[in-house]
Amino acid sequence: MPELPEVETIRGKLAPHLQGRRIAAFEVPDARWCEPAAPGELADALAGRRIERVGRRGKYFDFELAGEVHLVMHLRMTGNLLYVPPGDDAERPYVRVRIALDDGATVLFTDPRRFGTGLVLLGDAARDAYFDARLGVEPLGPDFTPAALRELARGRRAPVKAFLLSQERIAGVGNIYADEALFRARIHPLRPVGTLRAAQIEALHGAVVESLQAGIDARGASIDDFRHPDGARGSFQDRFLVHRREGEPCPRCGATVVKLRAAGRGTYVCPRCQRRPRGA
Ligand SMILES: [Zn+2]
Repeated sequence: MPELPEVETIRGKLAPHLQGRRIAAFEVPDARWCEPAAPGELADALAGRRIERVGRRGKYFDFELAGEVHLVMHLRMTGNLLYVPPGDDAERPYVRVRIALDDGATVLFTDPRRFGTGLVLLGDAARDAYFDARLGVEPLGPDFTPAALRELARGRRAPVKAFLLSQERIAGVGNIYADEALFRARIHPLRPVGTLRAAQIEALHGAVVESLQAGIDARGASIDDFRHPDGARGSFQDRFLVHRREGEPCPRCGATVVKLRAAGRGTYVCPRCQRRPRGA
């Protein structure tokens, strides 16, 4: 599933092509994408409007259009946003949404497994309320500080991996970047988050930021379906420290990386660098 760095990579590549353009037509051939709204309602709200900004919040895209109209989209498991330049008539598979721009280019939401979703929100306040109800702090924004992380973790018994994956605490971290951050911070994923010491909270804060930034620098990880808007692949999968490296040596100490289950997800740890808590 695309996480914050993958969504941010797509956002950064789309923005220069889209910002300032108008949406000429908006088609949703697969009506499940925007349930319970009807495709025609979205088309009516979007067609003819200028795209002022291509934004992101957590793993969501927020296309900000003129008049405070927001097109909010989530890729879920296998969604992608492809940019098709003017004059390119090649067919793409799994097209769920087609956004025609006024310069002849098209943006396609493709999605083999069809879990991706989209909706239109009218007004910045409606957009803020939607995100506030679902998402916690933005980890690359100014509000994510060691003190903020300590406050979020205080008194919580949840294993730290589950804590990192909960979008309503920290927005945008998924399975890849949680594993990488915990390894960098030398914290076992099953450790109850409320028991982390101040120095560990500090380390975890830095590790979350570094892992996400490393993912963005590598333009995301293409382990499954993730592609850039031009079809290119990210390269972060070649730079994983522990994620998906079961049986390989830890890059820090040489011990063998193992796979376990945490928060219901395949989780990769160095058993020497990340000591299992007693009783877990
Ligand atoms: Zn190690």
